[in-house]
Amino acid sequence: MLRGLKRLNKYENRILRIAKLGGKNVRIFQQGFSRKTKEGFRFPIHSLEIGSESAIKKKPVGLVAGVHGLETIGIRVLLDFLEYILDSNSLGYLPEIEKGKMGIVCLPIVNPGGVALKMRANPAGVDLMRNSGVEADDPMPFFGGHKMSPKLPYYRGNTMEPEARTLYRFVKKYFFESKNSCMSVLDIHSGFGTIDHVWWPFAFTKEKCRDEELFIKMSEYLKETCHNVSFRYGPQSESYTTNGDLWDRFYLHFNKEYRNGKETQKSAFLPWTLEIGTWSDLKKNPLRTLKKRGIFNPSKENKSETITGYRKLLTDFVKMATMELYN
Ligand SMILES: [Zn+2]
Repeated sequence: MLRGLKRLNKYENRILRIAKLGGKNVRIFQQGFSRKTKEGFRFPIHSLEIGSESAIKKKPVGLVAGVHGLETIGIRVLLDFLEYILDSNSLGYLPEIEKGKMGIVCLPIVNPGGVALKMRANPAGVDLMRNSGVEADDPMPFFGGHKMSPKLPYYRGNTMEPEARTLYRFVKKYFFESKNSCMSVLDIHSGFGTIDHVWWPFAFTKEKCRDEELFIKMSEYLKETCHNVSFRYGPQSESYTTNGDLWDRFYLHFNKEYRNGKETQKSAFLPWTLEIGTWSDLKKNPLRTLKKRGIFNPSKENKSETITGYRKLLTDFVKMATMELYN
């Protein structure tokens, strides 16, 4: 039944090797557990702290992947990036981490049960990005999330699943109590369309979010520094509207409970989503659409190129997040 267990073990081992590679600059924690599978297995959800504790406390930047169990390309992009910046022999080595000037926190596999079962949803059949309880203004039918049956994709579930609550605890611990900062998190997905999207809130409405101007300013910066690659930037609702996006809920919650409507409070919590476009491969080999994994992951020959292709964006993203450009 657990057809993806080997793959999950491979990623978990790679996370351990990353912790070893980073030495005293990397700490690994168990942040929570997945839902149980039918057979009764639960999988631990691990998080990583990279950099000094004071850097993480002062101005953390977050990287998240593996919310959807089939989108393993996102997990590999994240792990590749960590190896790239932590290895002192690598071209991408970031000395800022060792010097205590940069603090990164990661949740590389939010949905380990989905990876082990080779499915998008968690072991209970819930699509975690439809699970937050936020109701959309005008959701796409079915794809935007439904309550019909966990046997169908995009099922919303009833209450927040253990994986979603684990992600919430992670976000709260590192971001909600930090002051006078502007804090970015990037959640890496794959599968929508032929080009790469970088989204910001909201998914539930076409209304502008409170930090729209800041998001635009930061995306202008990223466009300039990543000039050789084309990403399409904008609020997620420009592409489609869905119920239950977790980042919508966390963002709304932060602004209501922590920012408290005071314009003098400088801290902003900025959740970004990178959606790696993979459909372009399908043109070359249309038969791949027939395979379940085909839509969400690029074909083999393009894989290593795809993975290393995001190193520049992620480097610019974590560097931008530690700058003081935006107050
Ligand atoms: Zn996804």
